[in-house]
Amino acid sequence: MNVLVVGGAGYIGSHCVRQLQAAGHRPVVLDNLVFGHRKAVAPDIPFYDGDLGDPDVVAPILKDEKIDLVMHFAAFAYVGESVTEPRKYYENNFVATLRLLETMLDEGVNKFVFSSTCATYGEPETLPMVESLPQKPINPYGQTKLDVENCLKAFAHAYGLSFAAFRYFNAAGAAEDGSIGEDHDPETHLIPLVIDAATGRRENIKIFGTDYDTPDGTCLRDYVHVDDLARAHIAVFEKLAEPGASCFYNLGTGTPNSVREIINAVEEVTGKKVPVVEADRRPGDPPALYADSSKAQAELGWEIKFTDVKDIIATAWKWHEANPDGFGD
Ligand code: UDP
Repeated sequence: MNVLVVGGAGYIGSHCVRQLQAAGHRPVVLDNLVFGHRKAVAPDIPFYDGDLGDPDVVAPILKDEKIDLVMHFAAFAYVGESVTEPRKYYENNFVATLRLLETMLDEGVNKFVFSSTCATYGEPETLPMVESLPQKPINPYGQTKLDVENCLKAFAHAYGLSFAAFRYFNAAGAAEDGSIGEDHDPETHLIPLVIDAATGRRENIKIFGTDYDTPDGTCLRDYVHVDDLARAHIAVFEKLAEPGASCFYNLGTGTPNSVREIINAVEEVTGKKVPVVEADRRPGDPPALYADSSKAQAELGWEIKFTDVKDIIATAWKWHEANPDGFGD
């Protein structure tokens, strides 16, 4: 299939582009390079620098490249910033996405794969988290993702849009060959920050809260390899053949790891000591989030290749070791 990957120069999008190629599809990238990296996309892949919310940019790409399906990874994803600058999040994550969907429908492209998040659930009532849990986001980031999910449902019903929304847990790791990886500015994610603390690029890692009601007092999260996420996006294609298909899947390994466990695993993988500072809780952090992904596994045949967080960290370490400055742009 000809697949437009919106946000294909970003962390998850760029890995998906490579998995699409490996599976014999033809990816085309649209990215405005606000957070994406041109070098994350191989030179042989058609690349458009522009905004997803601009029909004058998107419509010609859909036509000229004969796009069959659109994947959308281009969102702002800083939870704290979404609280202080919600306008930015509603504008980019919701309004621009609505424009993209309208352009698709106008051009007769009706297959869509959307990056959603476990943040749409807020603080879960039960663990592991299944798709049918109530969705009560506790910040504008999660809310804008849920708003898009609801919009997709209505569009599927009314206009025959076929979509899949994947609710990611904590994306982590890098391409196994070390060629692309995670490079956020600013970086807020635990694994790259712990790696930086291991290599001395930062003084230490702060553990945000050591008094949670969890086995070692630190938060539990579900770290899932970025290529495993990417493969689910391709495994769903068959489902989208049916007009009006509307599906939601949690994507995580189902294994919770605490912040301390991640720090220990980074020490083991890198062979370096990580200086740790115990700090206050970060506002808005639920104590534990981990997935029940049995629906994706049963319905899509989704197989999790990286079930051990140490193997995920090893791929992140390979990338960071070879590219200490990320893409260097
Ligand atoms: N965390 C931490 N120190 C940091 C960054 C993150 O203790 O410098 C914790 C954070 O409180 C959470 C976990 O690591 O419990 C994962 O955080 P991250 O920001 O990577 O992802 P989130 O789960 O917030 O999406």
